Amino acid sequence: MEQPFKNFYKRTRQEKVALLKTLGYLPADDTQSHLPEEIADQMVENYLFNYELPLGVAVNFNINEKDYVIPMVVEEPSVIAAASNGAKKIGPIKTSVSHRELIGQIVFAEVTDVDQKVNLIESRNEELLQLARSFSPSMVKRGAGPNRIWVETKQDTTGDYLIVYVGMDTGEAMGANAINTVLEGIAPEIAQLIQQPILFSILSNYSETAITTAQARIPVLTLHPNAVEAEQIAHKLELASRYAHIDVYRATTHNKGIMNGIDPVLIATGNDWRAVEAGVHAYASRNGNYESLTEWVIDKKTNELVGTISLPLAIGTVGGTIAVHPSAQWSLKLLGNPDAETLAGIVASVGLAQNFAAIFALVTDGIQKGHMALQAKSLALQAGAHVDELPQVIEKLKQKQKQPVNQAVAKEILDEI
Ligand code: NDP
Repeated sequence: MEQPFKNFYKRTRQEKVALLKTLGYLPADDTQSHLPEEIADQMVENYLFNYELPLGVAVNFNINEKDYVIPMVVEEPSVIAAASNGAKKIGPIKTSVSHRELIGQIVFAEVTDVDQKVNLIESRNEELLQLARSFSPSMVKRGAGPNRIWVETKQDTTGDYLIVYVGMDTGEAMGANAINTVLEGIAPEIAQLIQQPILFSILSNYSETAITTAQARIPVLTLHPNAVEAEQIAHKLELASRYAHIDVYRATTHNKGIMNGIDPVLIATGNDWRAVEAGVHAYASRNGNYESLTEWVIDKKTNELVGTISLPLAIGTVGGTIAVHPSAQWSLKLLGNPDAETLAGIVASVGLAQNFAAIFALVTDGIQKGHMALQAKSLALQAGAHVDELPQVIEKLKQKQKQPVNQAVAKEILDEI
């Protein structure tokens, strides 16, 4: 089988770009994209300059029978290497999205006669839904828009809260502003109906109904050339996965490793990664304990290690930063201009591959071996090595594998050179 990305990481930057063009991932006339100051100045208040982060690509991804080169923006040296390595090991990934829905809420506090008011709103449900749709005419026109309204109550020592929820298909957009417009549009009508002042109206970043799942099936015997060791590794991977469901100390780090893969793709594609982070961690706590987002289980019938990630991903391919940031548009182009569901599948797949790479390293060589090989470059740079001196310093740092390597050691080596 042809392996165009074999030793990809060893190529020069120019060779990498040329290969991506040859393979059709990038158009032949593609040039790098930068954020112009005049656009950046419109994006944030009190703009001064662009703070740059490296964009790299993860390779070896096959998602829903399509090969992808995935843009990632990240400062941690080992992340892209681990994603590519994890993708190579786990092989083809299948993804699905349960539902595309953003939820918003209109909250009323210190509500009197709460049950009666709930009934009143419920009796006008259809009318309110039509009103909500009238605040989102272009979404409705494209077959999306608000599609359900429901009411709940909650209590605390101050009394009763009444919450009106709106579920909305936001099409290709993340939809934060789109749903906020709807919520603020219908809230006064509901306030009038129940004779209560509005406490606030806002989207929720907990998109518990919009779950993206990615799954890979790895033949156990591919985990190690020796069959016995392969079985042992698979067993340990299953145990490590189970453990991340019962211990919050481990679950937190386990999920951080997953977000190592997810956030860089979100940043590269101009998506709001804080929104996803908040939703993902809330979802990880849905059973009352903070748990792992992935599960690795041995399928004894087929002798495969089956890895699954499920998480809420309220992301988009239009609007927000994507609309104005040339690098976000470049990243989407590299991915073949996916729709929002396809992009969510790609993001989840990177999370799954990243997670596999991390736990595989943990139950085999430990995390530092792979990390330090890449960290050596960082240390050399921190010690003040010039680009020309890097290979020599890195080589010498690697030779010191048995000793702790740190910036002082890198500096010593540099001084020797
Ligand atoms: P925008 O406000 O940019 O809205 C996207 C718009 O794109 C839509 O409203 C729609 O406008 C238009 N559009 C064009 N084509 C399509 C299509 N095929 N499908 C859907 N919409 C389309 O962005 P969002 O509403 O997505 O909001 C995202 C931004 O909001 C992010 O920057 C986020 O950081 C920010 N935000 C996040 C919050 C949070 O997470 N808590 C809170 C507030 C803001 P039209 O229908 O008029 O054509």
